[in-house]
Amino acid sequence: MPRILDGAAIAAAIKKEVVEEVQRLAGLGIRPGLAAVLVGHVPASEIYVRSKVQTCAELGLSSDLIAPPDTVTTQEMLNLVAVLNSREDVDGILIQLPLPKQVDAKALLDAVDPAKDVDGFHPVNAGRLQAGRPALAPCTPAGVIEILKRSGIPIAGQHAVILGRSDIVGKPAAMLLLHENATITICHSKTRDLGAITRQADILVAAIGRPGFVTPEMVRPGATLIDVGINRITTREEFERFFAGDLKREAVFAKRGSTIVGDVHPNAFEIAGAYTPVPGGVGPLTIAMLMANTVRAAKMRRGL
Ligand code: NDP
Repeated sequence: MPRILDGAAIAAAIKKEVVEEVQRLAGLGIRPGLAAVLVGHVPASEIYVRSKVQTCAELGLSSDLIAPPDTVTTQEMLNLVAVLNSREDVDGILIQLPLPKQVDAKALLDAVDPAKDVDGFHPVNAGRLQAGRPALAPCTPAGVIEILKRSGIPIAGQHAVILGRSDIVGKPAAMLLLHENATITICHSKTRDLGAITRQADILVAAIGRPGFVTPEMVRPGATLIDVGINRITTREEFERFFAGDLKREAVFAKRGSTIVGDVHPNAFEIAGAYTPVPGGVGPLTIAMLMANTVRAAKMRRGL
């Protein structure tokens, strides 16, 4: 039987450590603070940001939710970021993506003070990560490393294949795994004979945003599967393709009219040595690492 890597439990352990650190900093008169910027009314973004702000409150960090209208201009957003950069009570700045079309997202992310860039998206932090210098690393890939390490899965010397090369997940995941001494291969939409490469993976990280893309034939038996994908499925046909006979899922699907599947087909998990389920695998780590990054930023800014 493959081992299920329990992301929720690992996230809870990280949050407990964050609370301890927040309490230690309180003794020094420091309260780490996150400013979350949520533009307009994208339902998924609203859920994510609400959850981030709520977690701040639970762990003892301060938070400030700023919600400009979806008509906001790039210049207005740049002005806002300049204010947040200069605010002493703000250690972390999070700009929830996606932004409306008229806003130049790159210009905005580049304007965030790298010392407050808790998402790790600023080119300075991406460069530091590549150079192996202490950096605020993107939360989801940092969470992937925490899952592997805290589950005792060896990384050094292993062949890690990363499916996806986005700046948010694929590339930083590859860099972090490289720094942990894995041998890495990065695959993308132009990669030829993908299955021949993924079958060589000791650790396969799937981050492409295609429901159930990784099938059993693409997996070496015993490999560790890290499924980053979050794909909502809403049709009965798709449901049957992934979850036929799964009564627990059936109940969720019947109740909500949708369920979540990762980038790995559930059948592929059966031949793995270990895997992260969806939901409850990588997902919970993203917020936990955001909290850890905010505390880290608060300390780094003060030279602690
Ligand atoms: P992007 O869309 O930015 O990147 C997708 C990557 O996958 C690209 O590099 C693309 O290649 C590659 N790709 C797409 N189709 C294929 C294919 N058929 N074969 C090989 N490679 C392919 O996505 P993200 O990195 O932002 O997110 C990936 C997934 O992770 C999504 O499901 C997203 O929802 C999820 N996610 C989950 C998070 C969490 O908290 N668990 C956080 C962030 C994302 P190319 O570059 O050539 O186009």
